[in-house]
Amino acid sequence: MTAMSVCEVCVSDLLYCDRHDAYLCPLCDRWQESACTDPECTYCLGRPDRPSLCEHPDRHHKTHD
Ligand SMILES: [Zn+2]
Ligand SMILES: [Zn+2]
Ligand SMILES: [Zn+2]
Repeated sequence: MTAMSVCEVCVSDLLYCDRHDAYLCPLCDRWQESACTDPECTYCLGRPDRPSLCEHPDRHHKTHD
């Protein structure tokens, strides 16, 4: 069903970052997945250590209601 919907640590709803194609927990301020090691991956390129440091204009959002 919704496999990646809540944080394993704090059980709050995860948000999704379109720019970096990754789920994140806004409370823990951590990515749920490590960045890949592909130097040409445009999603992971420039991904900050913490989601709160994202500088892109589009917001992180929920992927479910
Ligand atoms: Zn969390
Ligand atoms: Zn982001
Ligand atoms: Zn990547």
